[in-house]
Amino acid sequence: MKYIEGKTGPWEVVIGLEVHAQIISKAKLFSGADTSFGAEPNTQVSFVDAGFPGMLPVINTFCVTQAIKTGLALNAKINERSVFARKNYFYADLPSGYQISQFEHPIVGLGYLDIELENGETKRIGITRLHMEQDAGKSFHDQHPTKSYIDLNRAGVALMEIVSEPDLRSSEEVMAYLKKLRALLRCLETCDGNMEEGSMRADVNVSLRRPGEPFGTRAEIKNVNSIRFAGQAVEYEIARQMEILEEGGTIVQETRLFDSAKNETRSMRSKEHAQDYRYFTDPDLPPLILTKEEIEAVKASMPELPDSKKARFMSEYGLPSYDAELLSGEKENALFYESAVKSSTSKSTKLISNWMLGELFAVLNKMNLALKDSPISAENLAKLVDLITTDVISGKIAKDVLLIMAETSDDPEKIVEEKGLKQVTDTGAIEKIIDEVLSANPDKVTEYRSGKDKLFGFFIGQIMKVMSGKGNPGMINDILKKKLDA
Ligand code: ADP
Ligand code: MG
Repeated sequence: MKYIEGKTGPWEVVIGLEVHAQIISKAKLFSGADTSFGAEPNTQVSFVDAGFPGMLPVINTFCVTQAIKTGLALNAKINERSVFARKNYFYADLPSGYQISQFEHPIVGLGYLDIELENGETKRIGITRLHMEQDAGKSFHDQHPTKSYIDLNRAGVALMEIVSEPDLRSSEEVMAYLKKLRALLRCLETCDGNMEEGSMRADVNVSLRRPGEPFGTRAEIKNVNSIRFAGQAVEYEIARQMEILEEGGTIVQETRLFDSAKNETRSMRSKEHAQDYRYFTDPDLPPLILTKEEIEAVKASMPELPDSKKARFMSEYGLPSYDAELLSGEKENALFYESAVKSSTSKSTKLISNWMLGELFAVLNKMNLALKDSPISAENLAKLVDLITTDVISGKIAKDVLLIMAETSDDPEKIVEEKGLKQVTDTGAIEKIIDEVLSANPDKVTEYRSGKDKLFGFFIGQIMKVMSGKGNPGMINDILKKKLDA
C-alpha cells in the first residue's frame, strides 16, 4: 500500500469514479430521434425529448442489449428486474423537469474491472453498479450578449452510468481504470469512448484518510473529459485537501469543476443528496424484465474481450506480456497484427510485433496518422518482415524500404526489386570487396592484428559503405573474421 507522506504523517488517497458513457445507438433511449454527433441544433428532437405533455416514452431495446453487454464485460450481475425512476430537478435544458434514470433497481449490479499498473501488477477494482439514464440537452451562454440558447439534440440520448467502488488509490490507478474501461467499451462497441466529444465523461470522487481510519469526506469533480485531466484533477485535489487537513481544517462535501487551463479544481456547488431529487418510479414505464434466455443470448454474442485476447496472444503467438498488452488493448491494433500474422509466410510473430509496435508506429506517429489510415497495409508489413527472415534484405535496409512504403503504399517486394536493394549473398562478390577494403587500409590491418579489436567495426562500416548497406551482415562478419585472423 502506498501512502503519501504529509507534514503531520502519512495519508491514504481514496477515489471512486462515476463514468457516464453514451451508448452507441442510432436512436435515443425512449424515442426514435436520431443521435448522430454534430447535427444542426434542435434537428434531432422528438416530442418525447422536448418534454411535451401527453407523450409516452418507449424503451429502446437495443440500448438495453448494449447495457447488458457492458455489464457482462464488467463481470457483473445482470438484474432480471430493473426499474426506471424520475430524478427531479429544474434546469433549462431539461424540458420535462426530470431525468429518467434508474435508482434503487439498476439493470447491472456488482462486478469488477482488472486494471494494469505501470509496475506490471494487476489490480481489481470493484464495480458498484451500472444503470441506464437519459442525457440532458446543452445550454449555450456565449452565443449572444443577453440570451442563452438551448440545443436539445442530446436530450434523451442513452447513457450508461458506471459507478466504481472507492477502490482506487492514486492518479495512476484512475488513469489506468479509465483507459481500461474505454478500451473495453470500444471493443464491445457500446460506447465510442471519445472523451473530447463528451461521449464519455468521468465524475472523480476524491478523499484522504489516515491509514486504517474510516473514509474521509470527499469532493466530487464533475464531468472530467480527458484521461490526462482526470489524473491532474486528482493530483490537485490531493494537494488541496492535504493542506486543509494538515492545518486542522475539514473538507466540505461539494461538487467541483476542473479547469484544465489553470490546472486546478474550483468549487461549483455544495453536494446535492439523493433526497434532493425526489426520486420515484416513473409511472409511464413498466419495470424492465429480462429473461435468463435473453441474457444468455447477449452473452453468446459477446466479442473476445481485451483480457482474454491478451492471454491468447501470449499463448498463441508466444508474445511477451508487454507486446500482447499493446496489441490487444486497442481493437485496431489486434486486427492489424492478426492479419499481418495470417498473411505472413515465415510466421515470425515476435518480429512482426517488433516491426509494428516499433518502426511502423514511429512512422505513423511522424505522419500524424492513426493505424486505420496507415499507408502500409498489414499484408505489406508481413511481406517486409518475410523479406528479412528469408535474408533477402537486412533489417537496416528494411527500415529504408518501410519509409518508401509509407510514402507510396507499394509492395515491399516491388520496391526491393526496382531499387535493387536485394542483399548480396554471393560469397565471391563479398570476398572481393573485403579484399579491396583490407588492401586500401594496410596500417589498420596491422593495428588490428596487433590487438586493436575495436577496428573490426571500422572494417564492417567500410565494407557496408562500398556495398551500399546491401551485404549480408552475417556473411560479411564471417568472411572478414577469417581473413583478418588468417
Ligand atoms: P453520489 O451518487 O451521491 O455521487 P455514491 O455514494 O453513489 O454518491 O458514490 C459515488 C462515487 O463516490 C462512487 O464511485 C464511490 O466509490 C465514491 N465514493 C464514495 N465515498 C467516497 C469517499 N469517501 N472517498 C472517495 N470516493 C468515494
Ligand atoms: Mg455522483
